[in-house]
Amino acid sequence: MDTTIFEQHESQVRSYCRNFPAVFHTAKGSLLYDTEGRAYIDFLSGAGSLNYGHNHPALTECMIDYLKADGVLHALDMYTEAKAAFLTAFTQKILQPRSLDYRIMFTGPTGTNAVEAAVKLARKVKGRTGMLALMGGYHGMTLGALALSTDAVSRQGAGQPLSCVTHIPAPYMIGEQQAIDYLNMLLHDDHSGLQPPAALIIETLQAEGGMDVLSDNYLQAVAGICRDNDMLLIVDDIQVGCGRTGPFLSFERAGIVPDIVTLSKSISGSGLPMALMLCKPQYDIWLPAEHNGTFRGNQLAFVTATRALDLLESENILEETKRKGHLVEEFFRTDIAPVDNRLRYKGLGLAGGIETIEIGPDGGYAKKAQGICFDKGLIVERVGRQNAVLKILPSLTISDDLLLQGMGILRDALLEARG
Ligand code: PMP
Repeated sequence: MDTTIFEQHESQVRSYCRNFPAVFHTAKGSLLYDTEGRAYIDFLSGAGSLNYGHNHPALTECMIDYLKADGVLHALDMYTEAKAAFLTAFTQKILQPRSLDYRIMFTGPTGTNAVEAAVKLARKVKGRTGMLALMGGYHGMTLGALALSTDAVSRQGAGQPLSCVTHIPAPYMIGEQQAIDYLNMLLHDDHSGLQPPAALIIETLQAEGGMDVLSDNYLQAVAGICRDNDMLLIVDDIQVGCGRTGPFLSFERAGIVPDIVTLSKSISGSGLPMALMLCKPQYDIWLPAEHNGTFRGNQLAFVTATRALDLLESENILEETKRKGHLVEEFFRTDIAPVDNRLRYKGLGLAGGIETIEIGPDGGYAKKAQGICFDKGLIVERVGRQNAVLKILPSLTISDDLLLQGMGILRDALLEARG
């Protein structure tokens, strides 16, 4: 396949395409097809934006209907039927059954826009600039979100100091109790050097950081610490929300209620850009237009997002995600772990990862396995320290057959990469 147009004219900042150098043409469900008609099983799913797969027929249909009826495509943040329908569905299907009382704010269309909004709001609410974030966390590329993120390559692109954030160790780095003790010490030792922060931001499962699950106990502990220390708790559910780990909101499993939540990626269901921030009503204090933007609330994305919330129920997606997550774990245990006892499985629901760092400390083993997967027709990304974790992020609607076929390719590639 000829890729020279991209290599000659597109910025070299491009990234995913380097690992998957095909020219893609069509996509359906969990399969992508290149211009030569070759099929690839998609275990990347638009980095978590395609929980319902590519071109789900129900989502395509409602988009076409809306376009054909001359539905409003751009309206700034004016009232539209499409937005009303989404607000109604989200409130009735997600918030009310969970007894959650949140105001819904539409931000610019990407995840990082929602994170910027969350952090700005927390700072305004508390009148403080400092933020706490976890090592291993990823929250986006705009400067406020990048300051929260910890991976070295992303940070080195900032071009200016990234400030006002104190990073604390994630529980898997030093042990859970030690991580909790460290946080308490930082907040209470009058010689820790920390000024009282506005908020702590966490992912309940650090996706880009390496698919590490934070335990219910840890999440409950940090929620308590935030409450006791007058800080807001922000859960960044951009990648692992929308049902990816089983429950629609990833923190439900811990029974906590964050002050602010960010959602994006799969909220539109269709892969169209959309992002939002949820905040407790008492924190909804911005003046009109104090946080503005031209593309807050993509109308077509509202249409598919509303329909996607129906699919959650009609296709039993949350329960199916848990079941398929168990299939993946079981396959790892029976078929992949025997390849090398240094391989480790991490994850929850259909947010999984295979840690290879003990085999290839520089991530070389994972990279090799990834290349073999691609040659065999599987798209799988690498994340985490030294990019040594192979990330298993299929659509939540994937069939058992394709899921196991993909896992089989992964096993064969891990075996072959050992040489
Ligand atoms: N937060 C999390 C947890 C993410 O995984 C990502 C994207 N990988 C972002 C924020 C940023 O989202 P976007 O790339 O859409 O700006």
